[in-house]
Amino acid sequence: MAKSSYESYCLHTPTKFVKEKFGDINVYTQNAKSLLTKASGFIDAYDFTLNPYRGCQYGCSYCYAAAFSPNAKMRQDWGKWVIIKENAAEILDKELNKWYSKNYNQYPTIYMSSVTDPYQPIESQHQLTRRLLEVMLDYYPTPTLVIQTRSPIITRDIDYLQRFQRLRINMSIPTGSELVRRDFEPRSPSIKARLNAIAKFKNSIEHLKGFIPKISITITPLLPTFPGDESGFFERLKIADRIVIQGFHPSQNRSLIASTRQETEEIKRKYPWWYDDEKLSYMQFKKKLISQLPDIEIKEGKDGFGYA
Ligand code: SF4
Repeated sequence: MAKSSYESYCLHTPTKFVKEKFGDINVYTQNAKSLLTKASGFIDAYDFTLNPYRGCQYGCSYCYAAAFSPNAKMRQDWGKWVIIKENAAEILDKELNKWYSKNYNQYPTIYMSSVTDPYQPIESQHQLTRRLLEVMLDYYPTPTLVIQTRSPIITRDIDYLQRFQRLRINMSIPTGSELVRRDFEPRSPSIKARLNAIAKFKNSIEHLKGFIPKISITITPLLPTFPGDESGFFERLKIADRIVIQGFHPSQNRSLIASTRQETEEIKRKYPWWYDDEKLSYMQFKKKLISQLPDIEIKEGKDGFGYA
């Protein structure tokens, strides 16, 4: 079978064409053969991972998921393309049907998403993630769902999300400083927008009396926060039940495909006061979190990414 290639990114003759432009990104479509992928490695506590899209228009400089791009040029242009899995809802329905017929009265645990953001901007137009939630809600007991995102667009789906009996939202906020955020992830939403989204979510759920979701803020990878921004950041972190911290994935580990991108190493050089002794900065930040947020669960690395 011919390998997929992508116009503007193909090594040979194009077989797929740009469906549309969304801002400055190329959007492609693809029919997925399967959607639920057996979870492994860092998130092996789950039954499955679920990625509605391939690629991610946030294009964070440190994103390890770039390693899973279809070819070298697309890896280099991480953030400039997205592939929509057009038949995702249909495939998910088939796969859940199979699961529930085999596992009577047992729900699967699903981590959405491991190599994309399910609420990246294009979701506001295509509503693929929303359709997947709709499919999941057709099953009982509903899957245990953990959503990893950095996008305020998640608040659009409060009506569906409050119907999940076991839901955890992991809002990714790796720094409390906007300047740092703009350096490492310039295409992503502001810190304020993410924190406001969580606040809106919590207020709406209580108001609507749905199931109460658990809320984590994942400070992963832990990026520098300027000392002057720290106390304000910590104050706003109190909105979460859990804080997760983690250092960078190693960038030169040949055995690890999902390593941190080289681009990040260059940005890190702008912050010598933090990165000259990265381990010490990490330990000091962790210590402050523990002492200033005594009522919040503080977890590290893999330990923090489970549902429970
Ligand atoms: S939002 Fe997540 S998946 Fe998207 S580029 Fe950033 S780190 Fe990668």
